[in-house]
Amino acid sequence: MITGKTKLLGVIGHPVSHSLSPVMHNAAIANLGVDFAYLPLPVKPEDLAVAIAGFAAIGLEGFNITIPHKQSIMPFLTEITPIAQAVGAVNTVWRTEQGWNGTNTDVIGFLAPLKPLDQPWTETDAVILGNGGAARAVVAGCAELGCRSIHVVGRDRAKLATFQQSWAHSAAAALLQTHEWHDLATLIPTAGLIVNTTPIGMYPQVDHSPVDVSLLERLQPGAIAYDLIYVPKPTLFLQQAAQQGAIAIDGLEMLVQQGAAALEIWLQQPAPVDVMRRSLQQYLNLT
Ligand code: NAP
Repeated sequence: MITGKTKLLGVIGHPVSHSLSPVMHNAAIANLGVDFAYLPLPVKPEDLAVAIAGFAAIGLEGFNITIPHKQSIMPFLTEITPIAQAVGAVNTVWRTEQGWNGTNTDVIGFLAPLKPLDQPWTETDAVILGNGGAARAVVAGCAELGCRSIHVVGRDRAKLATFQQSWAHSAAAALLQTHEWHDLATLIPTAGLIVNTTPIGMYPQVDHSPVDVSLLERLQPGAIAYDLIYVPKPTLFLQQAAQQGAIAIDGLEMLVQQGAAALEIWLQQPAPVDVMRRSLQQYLNLT
């Protein structure tokens, strides 16, 4: 029940109506029996400053950030964790006496399904398809795993150069190379981990894949194919990679685990991960 004492959390974005965060966070809040509510908070880019001031005025406890505010939120924060600084984006903010603090839980989310695998990471070459916001969390994650090399594949040479440059002062710089798509033919046979961070194959374009099946045939058996997309589950890319003997990982667990990590910051107690996962599976009609 929402009462006069209920503490508020939320997600800001523009648009925010597609966000699944209210579903999983409110399911977790109900399960824990804590007096919180998690709201969708639509904020236009030009209204960000006034919205943040308003959140402080009403005592919002914290919030998630989705497109397009993940970078533009940063000047409003008093402290930003080193992982969020490395990624260059913030997806979770919490209130302190000194002001708003921010971090990025996408890296924790990305790593969660990989960490239990018995993979020799220091001998693993990672190939990342796409060079947008999610690719940044994936690069940071691959660096944390200790991958031998990280190859980011994109379609726009200027954006690739900017991407490469943005890591110049981080530990990932020595591992990172950027490529255009035609390089995939030489990258795939040695890839131990291939991650799709593009929206290619996402519902409703379910018969699209970022990698032609003739290239996927060159994948090593036992390689890990990871798609950040969670609808459909699995994507065509994951289905075809699994047919080549790859270990397939979809994006649902990343979504759940980044949310759980955020909730633990706000509530200072363990998140009910199973409840969060089940709420999304039910909402998305996934088995
Ligand atoms: P983004 O910042 O817009 O980046 C998308 C990237 O994909 C860009 O590099 C873009 O290239 C590339 N791309 C888009 N269409 C392409 C095409 N037809 N051919 C080649 N490249 C193409 O988006 P994002 O925030 O990184 O999100 C990317 C995907 O990850 C989405 O499907 C999103 O739902 C998913 N995601 C999942 C999670 C999770 O928790 N599971 C978290 C974050 C994101 P250009 O830059 O050249 O346009």
